[in-house]
Amino acid sequence: VDEVDGNFVRTVKNCIFSKSTPTPLKGPLRLAAVSKEVIEGIFDLDVAVTQSEDFLHYASGGKLLIGSVPLAHRYGGHQFGYWAGQLGDGRAHLLGRYSNRKGETWELQLKGSGKTQYSRSGDGRAVIRSSVREFLCSEAMHFLGVPTSRAASLIVSEEPVVRDQFYNGNVKMERGAVVLRLAKSWFRIGSLEILAQSGETDLLRKLVNFVIDEHFPSIASGDSNKYLVFYSTVVNETARLIAQWMSVGFAHGVCNTDNFSLLSITIDYGPFGFMESYNPNFVPNTSDDEGRYGIGAQADVGLFNLEKLLAALSPVLTQKQQEEAKMILKGYGSIYQMRIHQIFKAKLGLLGEEEDDSFLIGFLLKMMEDKGSDFTMTFRQLSEISDLQLHNRNFTQMWALGDLLEHEHFSDWLNMYVFRISRKQSDTDSDRQSRMKKVNPRYVLRNWMAESAIVKAEVNDFSEVELLHRILSSPFVTQETAEEAGHAARPPPWAERLKVSCSS
Ligand code: AMP
Ligand code: MG
Ligand code: MG
Repeated sequence: VDEVDGNFVRTVKNCIFSKSTPTPLKGPLRLAAVSKEVIEGIFDLDVAVTQSEDFLHYASGGKLLIGSVPLAHRYGGHQFGYWAGQLGDGRAHLLGRYSNRKGETWELQLKGSGKTQYSRSGDGRAVIRSSVREFLCSEAMHFLGVPTSRAASLIVSEEPVVRDQFYNGNVKMERGAVVLRLAKSWFRIGSLEILAQSGETDLLRKLVNFVIDEHFPSIASGDSNKYLVFYSTVVNETARLIAQWMSVGFAHGVCNTDNFSLLSITIDYGPFGFMESYNPNFVPNTSDDEGRYGIGAQADVGLFNLEKLLAALSPVLTQKQQEEAKMILKGYGSIYQMRIHQIFKAKLGLLGEEEDDSFLIGFLLKMMEDKGSDFTMTFRQLSEISDLQLHNRNFTQMWALGDLLEHEHFSDWLNMYVFRISRKQSDTDSDRQSRMKKVNPRYVLRNWMAESAIVKAEVNDFSEVELLHRILSSPFVTQETAEEAGHAARPPPWAERLKVSCSS
């Protein structure tokens, strides 16, 4: 740990962390959201503790546990395709690690907890809107079964923060908020890149060894090929993660190498979006003019990022190992394709393997693109409809499928599909439906949903944050309150012009 002082960003050497103290949020503080699952299941605490003043302060940077040495992590990264040099935690503090009753170790981090030595021009704060989005989305992703960081709590303050929202030409004053978030590890591809780029090979080796020892228990620390096995695992798991994003229509928005976890979990929720109308070019981030991080580009971006990881590992690889690593990377595309194929087969409820399966999947997606079908509900309604209804084209209350019926080829596709699922399936129609309902969520965090919760949260009404949190904790189960609130219905018209930017 290196101690860096001063009020300016300084490029430092030979350190992975800098001691950095959170700046307490200015009160009055309010607990806007809390995850009972995290508090009880990960922290081994009773959720009642979150009602205390102590918790409010601890979870917003105003109080430290005895012995805690808060840190800001030094990392670098490729942003939008280019090496950006030293970045680092500019508004996050690592509070420490907690080993729980289950034997898991989690790293606790505050986000929005003030300036660090790595803050670039910004104020080190996060606003309510971006914090609500991170809190809700990371929890939603967890319940969707996608590897992700988690969120324990969301605390809002009265502290004014200026971000980039403009109203009538005026900069809007927003309020600061802090999310207490956790992950098994916050190390990113950029954590290694900065060390490789600045020639800090000893430290690089030390960090890779640490990451392997802590998080890749199946890799023996004495294995002379351990960096290669590590690389191969990250290649595999990154392909799996991106395929899982695609299966729920998630676009991360800022797939820079500093936002790609070495543990292949989803981290850094910013201008992400869940795709509504199916569109491979869906770009959630309005600041991403070129659509570099559009939903359909994520697999290729994963490849780009893994190339950068290979470059970062190269100083600790032999020439021969570097060649082997390149071969491993060559396999990325087919691993990804294999995962996607398996996932979409499951989404369509297809058992076994048939020659035309890829065609069946691609054909449906193409029609969905033509019609702008709702991604989530099209797959969900295929999970909720019987073979017979499909056969008879009985789409009462199945609005997403009803839209597709107007496509000139949908009827042909249905014939193929009904034939496929009635043939060689070892289970019944209701088995197929229940299998499909476990992989096709009914509820995802659509932008309009997040926005409507944010508008209320900004006037200290957190009821909708709570409602969404509850609904998204059971995304595969049809819930009455969610139905009443229209959360599985066509998005409301007011939501069409919603935008999210990098400051989200
Ligand atoms: P991001 O684009 O959010 O992944 O962040 C890239 C870099 O900008 C990281 O070093 C962040 O810590 C820093 N950064 C982002 N937002 C802020 C902020 N509000 N204040 C200070 N630094 C920030
Ligand atoms: Mg980031
Ligand atoms: Mg960010």
